[in-house]
Amino acid sequence: MKKEYIDLHIHTKASDGIFSPAQVVEVVLKLELKAFSITDHDTINGFAEAEKLIRGNNVEIIPGVELSCHYRGSDVHILGYYIDYANPEFEKKIFKFRQERYERGEEMVSRLNELGINLSMETVKDIAGKSAVGRPHVADALLKEEFVQTYDEAFARYIGYHAPAYVPKQTFTPEQGIDLIHLTRGVAVLAHPGTLKHDEFVPDFIAMGLDGIEAYHSQHSRNDVTRYKNMADKFGVIYTGGSDCHGPRKGNVLIGNQRIPYKILENLKKVKESK
Ligand code: AMP
Ligand code: FE
Ligand code: FE
Ligand code: ZN
Repeated sequence: MKKEYIDLHIHTKASDGIFSPAQVVEVVLKLELKAFSITDHDTINGFAEAEKLIRGNNVEIIPGVELSCHYRGSDVHILGYYIDYANPEFEKKIFKFRQERYERGEEMVSRLNELGINLSMETVKDIAGKSAVGRPHVADALLKEEFVQTYDEAFARYIGYHAPAYVPKQTFTPEQGIDLIHLTRGVAVLAHPGTLKHDEFVPDFIAMGLDGIEAYHSQHSRNDVTRYKNMADKFGVIYTGGSDCHGPRKGNVLIGNQRIPYKILENLKKVKESK
């Protein structure tokens, strides 16, 4: 039998991805993935469109979201799967995460202005459209107005983690993120711990009710994958994985690249059923 693969971490234009939901669906169908999840930052707007588009095809879509949280000076991303996105309480709360992103965008623009970069929030807004505002939109705005020559230069000089106009997202704790996912009986998974680089935080998140750890990820080494699988086993939670594709900005479309077996989704479903 042909092996069946999945990808549980994909972004669209609804947050800071490049692809529209339709383009993601096109790639997913071409690769003949068995299942996929759209996990945009702080919004589920990309999901609804993709769900309509896959109807009649032999592929499963899992509702997902990636919540931006902050813990002890680090960005912590919490993935939520099988959330009841139609729950009005969920929509109300997730709106606050988007609002934080917008206000933080304004703050980055004002820091840029202080640095003598005459960028306006209007330009950032035009680029972001209805999307949850992120640094990639600010970078594109800087590029459009020719304050930088390349996208990467925007991060290196202005909005990268240690650059002068960088503003962290500090409003939400991982506990609030996990609770929000659980509010609608979703499954909460720690995104890409290999990029977080604070394995010592994991027991804290487990104590907060975390259900799983993302082991497969485009930025994880093979050692990372093994380490996080073992860590998940040790804590008695599941492990998941995905490409974290944001679109072909650097030439590569990452969708499907982790070759994740369908079995991983079966484990995720078991946890969902226990919710
Ligand atoms: P945000 O969630 O608004 O903090 O934006 C994070 C996104 O910005 C990441 O997902 C990357 O796509 C992008 N990003 C962050 N740092 C860099 C960097 N140094 N160079 C290029 N892109 C970056
Ligand atoms: Fe992102
Ligand atoms: Fe992330
Ligand atoms: Zn992501």
